[in-house]
Amino acid sequence: MCITFGQNEGTKKRIVIDVGHRGIDSGAIGINNIQEKDVVLNIAKTMLRLNKSVLNSNLNLYLTRYTDTLISLSDRSRLAKALDADVFVSLHCNASNRKSRGMEVYVHRSNYVNTKASIALSLSVLNEGTQKLGFKERGVKLANFQVLRETIAFCPAVLVEVGFVTHVDEARYFYKLENIRAIALAVLLGIDNYLNNEL
Ligand SMILES: [Zn+2]
Repeated sequence: MCITFGQNEGTKKRIVIDVGHRGIDSGAIGINNIQEKDVVLNIAKTMLRLNKSVLNSNLNLYLTRYTDTLISLSDRSRLAKALDADVFVSLHCNASNRKSRGMEVYVHRSNYVNTKASIALSLSVLNEGTQKLGFKERGVKLANFQVLRETIAFCPAVLVEVGFVTHVDEARYFYKLENIRAIALAVLLGIDNYLNNEL
């Protein structure tokens, strides 16, 4: 990890963290009614704090929502364009049968330069989440998700499925604040390591 002190605001990388789902769209609902929209909001808000405490505010982080508010998929992409973002990371939790577990990252294949960069970013986030944190690695996958399709024209864009709310161990994991902190740090360091390697 490389930390640059005293970096001015103009040169800081702009990261859009898209907090999946909102309001009545709770996303996946898992064991003990744990809701995806709450888990990803907790992770994103913790990333804001960790950027200050661990990375010395090295990155400029913007969330697509700071509360349980309504935001359309297109507005999430528009924010990345309006901010001239360097990286777009959409946070989600997976749901499936009770046996599925682990972390996977999705990329859209439509812009050669940004797709390549998105795969590098995916691998960096996966490395932190799986090798260092212990989540099972499910790999980098290609998908035609709207939020990625509409963002990849502007910057590298990935959608991280941090784990399964339908798996008993992972749902239990997401209930604990110290674990939210661990996964927030993993995603943040994954982004930071990617940016440092790009320079
Ligand atoms: Zn989702």
